Amino acid sequence: MASSSAASTAETFPAGTPAAAQIFTTVLSQGPLTRLELARRAGLSAAAVTKAVRPLIESGYLVEDADPEARPALGRPANLVRVDGGRALFLGLKLTGDHIFGVLTDLRCRTLLARHAPLSDRAPRAVLASTAEMVRELLTEADGYGVRVVGLGIAVSGDVDRAEGVVRYSPFLEWREVPLAELATAVTGLPATVDNDVRALTVAEQWFGAGVGLSDFAVVTVGAGVGCGLVVHGEVVAGAHGVAGEIGHVTVDPNGPPCHCGNRGCVEAIAADPAILARIREAGGAEAASIDEAVALARAGDAHAREAYSRAGEAIGRG
Ligand SMILES: [Zn+2]
Repeated sequence: MASSSAASTAETFPAGTPAAAQIFTTVLSQGPLTRLELARRAGLSAAAVTKAVRPLIESGYLVEDADPEARPALGRPANLVRVDGGRALFLGLKLTGDHIFGVLTDLRCRTLLARHAPLSDRAPRAVLASTAEMVRELLTEADGYGVRVVGLGIAVSGDVDRAEGVVRYSPFLEWREVPLAELATAVTGLPATVDNDVRALTVAEQWFGAGVGLSDFAVVTVGAGVGCGLVVHGEVVAGAHGVAGEIGHVTVDPNGPPCHCGNRGCVEAIAADPAILARIREAGGAEAASIDEAVALARAGDAHAREAYSRAGEAIGRG
């Protein structure tokens, strides 16, 4: 069962119209902004902005402050509108093949708490039990903030249908057609959204990170695999697997090591964590049992580890 902080779902976010949702998102990712600048960036009229901002201020999602920089020549001072990050809390989970990571964040994506737990069983039923336990723990701690937790976001690697909330195929979890959003809501009592992990990270960078204010950028992730997210003309480009830019399987060395996809010399076969560990082992270097150990070896100047990383860096760059 969900704790009291999740139980009251009657209070709804007052973004009833597409314009209101767009304005809120613009302030969230680019604020604080004056109403005039907000109208310009959202491509809406000043009247539409004023109309949409009012209920958001009344409900406490937006606040306005006097702009210390503004020196109006005439009329009212141009106040800045910003999102009150403390107005609502969210839970975020990331599921990998062997771990579950959980965070409690505020409305502006600032992490208030972070937890992780090992996953010993990848079957959906076992993962959901671990999900419920982690959510329960985070909700209990969230009670201390006195602010409602309004939703749960879950990131999973693989082919994820965000609209349907279904994990179509996740190789790391060995899942096919798992209606994760629905199942997570059933065990936690929270509205849940499910997305591909790289796509979720790309949106996070676009709204709150290195991509703020940029219309075009790429996010490259390197770990158990090599992934890529793209933002083009301000939109996250989603491909067949929820992400764009299959950088992991671009061939950069036709004579390179075999890849699990069947080709040779893919970026992933050279630069992903298992490839780096294999390279150090094959070169006869010091034993690295984990990627943390490999990083430590490279930092300590181990020639084999440094060569493996240099090769990985070149493969990613070419990809
Ligand atoms: Zn490949």
